[in-house]
Amino acid sequence: MIELIDIQKRFGDLHVLKGISLQFAEGSVTALVGPSGGGKSTLLRCINLLEVPTSGTVRIGQASVSFEPNRKVGWKSIQALRRQTGMVFQNFQLFPHRTAIENVMEGLVTVLGWDKPRATKRATELLERVGLAQKADAWPATLSGGQQQRVAIARALAPSPRVLLCDEPTSALDPELAEEVVDVLAGLAREGTTMVMATHDLRLASRIAQEVVFLDGGVVAEKGPARDVFKDPKAERTRRFLASLQ
Ligand code: ADP
Ligand code: MG
Repeated sequence: MIELIDIQKRFGDLHVLKGISLQFAEGSVTALVGPSGGGKSTLLRCINLLEVPTSGTVRIGQASVSFEPNRKVGWKSIQALRRQTGMVFQNFQLFPHRTAIENVMEGLVTVLGWDKPRATKRATELLERVGLAQKADAWPATLSGGQQQRVAIARALAPSPRVLLCDEPTSALDPELAEEVVDVLAGLAREGTTMVMATHDLRLASRIAQEVVFLDGGVVAEKGPARDVFKDPKAERTRRFLASLQ
């Protein structure tokens, strides 16, 4: 249901993604792992088109867009794809001058044009789902990092995206706070939320991901079921990387 075909991304002379082809099944959770600079964030940003691929095709459900160098793609097609995705960032990126519930409502009201009562109802349900109903009216600055990230997850899920993209969702957090975020993500995974997640956190990856993609130097060095890749990596690069994290 999500398909990337030969995605290439260059930043000037820097060739960051060198032909990535992947499929993510509906309801699956995929961990993107690999060394820093390997292209994980860029790949996530190419899925929701925060970065425009230099070439290749991104397909999410019915929406599909192909890119070629020097050919501009219409804003409408980009929006259509982007709306199928929700993104969670390492540093939460909440709107500081909006309360927790206003953060969750924001996109529903301004992008989707929902009226306030409908958006409030949806946001309240989502805050409950991430265990923060009692913090609806809190300002982000008064929340712990773990709580802020849970609000960010609720915000990303608000428009019912087909896929939740997470870029190092726990790496700005102390282990204890990371744990509460992992619990929320694990719950979403059990409920069948499709997720693609870049992470250094192998505990997070092995707890919730069924699939692992090992990205190194802009290519997929290895991919497969999480238990196989983590237990018995085939590629030498994967083996060395996993050993370095022990
Ligand atoms: P990872 O998330 O795996 O650490 P990134 O996708 O962030 O890797 O980065 C891959 C490479 O692309 C790095 O060399 C990084 O410096 C480069 N890069 C990422 N974003 C940009 C950008 N906007 N402009 C130029 N280079 C970038
Ligand atoms: Mg990154």
